[in-house]
Amino acid sequence: MKPKKAAQIVSWLVMVSAILLLLSYFDVVDKPLALPPDPEQYEQTEAADTKSEGSLPTGAASHSEQTEDTSAQTDETESTAETEETAPLKPLVFTNIDSNLITTDGSRLRIWPEKSSLPSIGLPEVQLPLQLNPEKPLQGAVVILDPGHGGSDIGESWQGESEEETLLEKTINLQIAVKIQEELVKQGAEVRMTRASDERHSYFYIMAYTADMMLQRYANDAKQAGYDPEPLESLRLLMQDVIRINSGTVDSGGRGIFNSIGTPANLKLIYDIENHYKDTVFLSVHLDASEKAEDKGVHVRYMSNEYIQSMNNSYAAGTDALSHAPNYNAYDSAQRERFASLLESSLTGQDPGMRSNQKAVFEDDLAVLRLNNVTSAQLTCGFLSNAEDRSRLTSTEGQEAIARGVANAMLQYYSAAP
Ligand SMILES: [Zn+2]
Repeated sequence: MKPKKAAQIVSWLVMVSAILLLLSYFDVVDKPLALPPDPEQYEQTEAADTKSEGSLPTGAASHSEQTEDTSAQTDETESTAETEETAPLKPLVFTNIDSNLITTDGSRLRIWPEKSSLPSIGLPEVQLPLQLNPEKPLQGAVVILDPGHGGSDIGESWQGESEEETLLEKTINLQIAVKIQEELVKQGAEVRMTRASDERHSYFYIMAYTADMMLQRYANDAKQAGYDPEPLESLRLLMQDVIRINSGTVDSGGRGIFNSIGTPANLKLIYDIENHYKDTVFLSVHLDASEKAEDKGVHVRYMSNEYIQSMNNSYAAGTDALSHAPNYNAYDSAQRERFASLLESSLTGQDPGMRSNQKAVFEDDLAVLRLNNVTSAQLTCGFLSNAEDRSRLTSTEGQEAIARGVANAMLQYYSAAP
């Protein structure tokens, strides 16, 4: 190609993108905006980064509306490609992450300041209640659904009379999670599944999946606001390592920054980022089994700020507390408890047969609830060892009733202030 011809093509492309940018400014076409892809697709997305900036994954439009509110502050920085040439990005500076400043008597873990490490960069507040759209009542909600177990990790099981009658928790968890996904998507929510097939992942994969998704969202938002997300890149690389090492394994030992008592500084930063996005919840779906055939019904486990701290302190007992990272102190206990209670009341409201014969909502030490900082709960949908539960858990109608119950709980969760 002759240099003159190439120059013509380049200037033509520049003109087209300028026109598109102008149109997007006047809301004629969608603004260039990228959403976090699935971590599995991260490598391809990175390679095609500039391409993905302009495209919006189908079925995931919910963020565009919220982000557009910021257009007033970000007019001149809407197109990142243009920004890099015109205005330099401002540096992102995080604070409150120097653990040396925290003192203690050494008997218990030190405690991070509750204050967020995130700078104020003019991002829109993501607070509850969401502005709900009557047509799509859950539009704006982001739900990370985690169908428990998978692959060689079968979870609980129930053996019937014949060989064909074996029921595996991992299979039913996925069936129920898919039903929940369908119901939530129908109502406008954006749903991310930690697995969509019979795969095996460790807890650390799940935590890194959540963290990476939120890191990417914050990086995109910061970039839109005119800040350089570069400091977040190293954290995303750490998360990618954990995701890669823990794919296809229950626990390979590759836990990265999740492998410690307390919360290292870079994990505090991730938790603060997760805490910024109040529109996101994490729900792990499981089943139970008991020696006692009468044990039945729905259980919901959650972890409060205080409970997580007491767990970490118990893990550190007998060691030098100063040798461990400080405790994180800004898990939203009230929201976690409210989310768990809504799940239980909404499911048993859907079908009183789902009522438990024991305490149904309680705190429990689970890595998936401890090692993230979005509102989270683990829903145990029933007992494989109980005949009544079993027929609900394995029937389409029963699974749909569970899905409706979860969607109702989400609706109540998102439509009221804490
Ligand atoms: Zn389970």
